Amino acid sequence: MEIKIFKNYRTAMVGSGLGGMISASILSKEGYKVCLLEKHHQLGGSIQNFRRDGVVFDTGAHYIGGMDEGQNLYQYFKYLDLTDKLNLRKMDSKGFDQVSFGDNGKTYKYAFGYERFKETLLTHFPDEEKALARYIGNLVEISNAFPLYKLKNNSQSILESEYYKISTVSFLDQLTKNERLKNVLAGTNLLYAGEGNKTPVYIHSLINNSYIESAYRLVDGSSQIAEHLAESIIGNGGTILKQAEVEKFIFKDKSIEYVQLTNGEKVFADKFISNIHPSRTFEMIDKEKMRKVYRERINNLANTISVFTLYITLKKNSFKYLNHNIYYYKNNNVWTASTYDPNNWPESYMLLTQCTSGSGEYAEGITVMAYMTYDEVKKWANTTIGQRGAEYEDFKEQKADMLLDFVEEKFPNIRQHIHKVYSSTPLTYQDYTATKEGSLYGVMHDSNDPLKSLILPKTKIPNLFLTGQNISLHGVLGVTIGAVLTCSEILGPNYLLSKIREAQ
Ligand SMILES: Cc1cc2nc3c(=O)[nH]c(=O)nc-3n(C[C@H](O)[C@H](O)[C@H](O)COP(=O)(O)OP(=O)(O)OC[C@H]3O[C@@H](n4cnc5c(N)ncnc54)[C@H](O)[C@@H]3O)c2cc1C
Repeated sequence: MEIKIFKNYRTAMVGSGLGGMISASILSKEGYKVCLLEKHHQLGGSIQNFRRDGVVFDTGAHYIGGMDEGQNLYQYFKYLDLTDKLNLRKMDSKGFDQVSFGDNGKTYKYAFGYERFKETLLTHFPDEEKALARYIGNLVEISNAFPLYKLKNNSQSILESEYYKISTVSFLDQLTKNERLKNVLAGTNLLYAGEGNKTPVYIHSLINNSYIESAYRLVDGSSQIAEHLAESIIGNGGTILKQAEVEKFIFKDKSIEYVQLTNGEKVFADKFISNIHPSRTFEMIDKEKMRKVYRERINNLANTISVFTLYITLKKNSFKYLNHNIYYYKNNNVWTASTYDPNNWPESYMLLTQCTSGSGEYAEGITVMAYMTYDEVKKWANTTIGQRGAEYEDFKEQKADMLLDFVEEKFPNIRQHIHKVYSSTPLTYQDYTATKEGSLYGVMHDSNDPLKSLILPKTKIPNLFLTGQNISLHGVLGVTIGAVLTCSEILGPNYLLSKIREAQ
């Protein structure tokens, strides 16, 4: 069989996660001839969907913030021609996220808009008005300190920001002594796989701020983002190759000349943007081409924890659709990511009903996620999807039962509504999205040593750039901002941002 050679691209993207797709869309819009390479048959990485019993489930990206007119993601997506195309459902304005604890029967709701957010929580914490006002003031201040988050020119060095050095726990400790309130405010930490004493406050703040501004679900899943981006890339003359797994970057002198695919094909380009985990990227580069210290620093970075997930298909017209997310904790301690006891698992979960076009009053499916370390499934690391053996299947079944028992604390009769239960482990995430150890959001940022986990889009190799959740911030908004940072390295500073601000 003839081996194909793809030539004359100005930029090739390795990986079609959100970061790779947005970079390809931006550069193709700007007249670059691009080639997007994805190892799977489906585009999108963590924004891909799949079906079980006909019900659509998300791999990641269950809800997005900042999508009201004038807000940050709205305007970024406007430039990308996405805003008007997406099928979105706005979440409960009086409680889009709801946090509760097994040790008291209360539900603490997050409402849209800071005033309403504060008023809603004040009903539970009438003596904490000052703390809540300061919390809100700080979130706004922190958001303003990140120019691209506000679509402003990136003038300052991010390293100057003190918000990289303050942990979320110490930030909350400064606000109040009320342990319950602190846990309520950090109750959605699965959104950033938070480790209280490490997660820098800017991560907590940028993510919470974006959802408090507005929160939307993507009807029938987040893969609609990938589909629209693919249309625009192709419409702009770009090439998309699926089942195109890159195995090596091949150099000519100090720069990359082409990427070698596992099927023998070669893709030549002037510049390359890698959308995969930086340490995975560097594994594909010969040792002598990179400085050892740089490679080792990236390789030794800790990654955020993974999850065990239930995908539940429901009996027809049986379980009401919830237009909000549930975050549930066994005790008054929300920092369970790194500290959970495997013998006492699960200690927390996030539950949501799938937002499908078939869900009106009733839901068609439920997703439940509970933190799980890679260590719990490491012994099956050398197996492949669907072939991991009976012991692994038993493990999954046992964990699914334990998680369902825990979900029953809040939803006592949930089992009677269930049609079928499917599950995934950190290994599933690793195999489908190629994140290291199935990590939810890639590299773990640590306020105790912020420089260590800083990954810039420009690498020491002159024509290699990085994008995706390990640059800047994870999540749909974070990765979008990261892609703008990456493309600005190629298109020049501030040029792109003014186009984004002007997009109508
Ligand atoms: C369970 C879960 C829930 C989430 N929930 C939300 C949410 O509610 N809201 C939100 O905003 N964000 C959420 N996120 C985060 C968000 O989905 C991610 O941060 C974002 O999609 C990551 O994008 P990325 O560009 O880093 O690429 P990734 O999604 O990591 O994709 C990388 C791509 O590269 C491909 N690839 C890997 N190696 C190769 C190779 N050698 N050759 C070619 N291709 C390769 C992979 O197959 C994959 O398609 C969630 C994530 C997860 C996992």
